Amino acid sequence: MRLIKAKIKSSFVFIGFFLFLINSLPLNAASVLAAWIITSDGVLKLRTSKDARLNAYYQGGYNNIGDRLWIDFPGELSNPRKLKGNGPIKEIRLGKPFEGNTRLVLEFDQKVSLDPTELKLLGKSPTMWELNLIGLNTVNLESFGEGDINRKSSNLNLTNSRNRFFPHKLNINSLPIVENGRFKIVIDPGHGGPDTGAIGLKGVKETDIVLDISKKVSEYLSARGVVVQLTRYKDVDLDLSERVIIANKSYANAFISIHANAVKGYRRDVSGIETYFYRGFNGENLANKIQTELIKIPGGSPDRGVRQSRFFVIKHTHMPAALVEVGFLTGRVDSRLLSQRSYRNEIAFGIAKGILKYLKETY
Ligand SMILES: [Zn+2]
Repeated sequence: MRLIKAKIKSSFVFIGFFLFLINSLPLNAASVLAAWIITSDGVLKLRTSKDARLNAYYQGGYNNIGDRLWIDFPGELSNPRKLKGNGPIKEIRLGKPFEGNTRLVLEFDQKVSLDPTELKLLGKSPTMWELNLIGLNTVNLESFGEGDINRKSSNLNLTNSRNRFFPHKLNINSLPIVENGRFKIVIDPGHGGPDTGAIGLKGVKETDIVLDISKKVSEYLSARGVVVQLTRYKDVDLDLSERVIIANKSYANAFISIHANAVKGYRRDVSGIETYFYRGFNGENLANKIQTELIKIPGGSPDRGVRQSRFFVIKHTHMPAALVEVGFLTGRVDSRLLSQRSYRNEIAFGIAKGILKYLKETY
């Protein structure tokens, strides 16, 4: 365990309230917040990418605003949001105060007043942080947060220096605009838990690749005001019929299942992207829109076309549905591409763009 000693870097006096900067050691790499939780005993825990540099601040309340504590992270948040707190915490806000940044704000109930000189943001490991909210009355506090705080570092770090994929900068502003809050989409990351799906070269697992891509698709769609439900958010086992039940209960506008392919006999020469539909003009159109975006990715995977198939999840879901095979984990080209985060981002961006184009055209 690595303990980073935090010190109070500076303090500023404003009219009627105080702003304290609780500074952690400056570290190199910059990235975004991965998960956070406030435990029922009043500890704020954060998981970030490795060696991020965080700054924590405390500001006393004024007028009818309670005391606030906030933490700034490098890397821009795609989906600003507010969450209702509980007990002594009135509200949590996640925003981007300025370009390229993420800010997590805790606003306390007006009765709460903490001593900021007691508060320290501690690095517990290269990815884990803790801030004990010393002095907080936790009697009515229930644990809440977002993301998986305990996730071990992923095994998706297979960046290959040969044949490296050079991404172009993804611009969220280039995604088609649809009516904010009008649409709902269910994204189904294939497999999970003991069902790893396909196992590719170097032991890459389909379940990990498709969950990562699905979460990113969700972020991109949320950035355009589309409500997204994933059939699974973690590495858990989920029956095919359960996925269908989730989808059919959701009254979503479309269902997209995300998979990665494999061929028997580890034929490394086979790579490419396929998108499947089962029925209907809308299903086929949805599949076409997604496939069209995916094969546009510069330096990406070959086009294996849009196909019709009776895959269980697209056959039994009631709304227009498509199943994307993002590439062959057994293929020389695809396994290298899919092991790179920047390429998985491109795939997620393409899927989101295809869905948005479909929604725009259909409604
Ligand atoms: Zn699969």
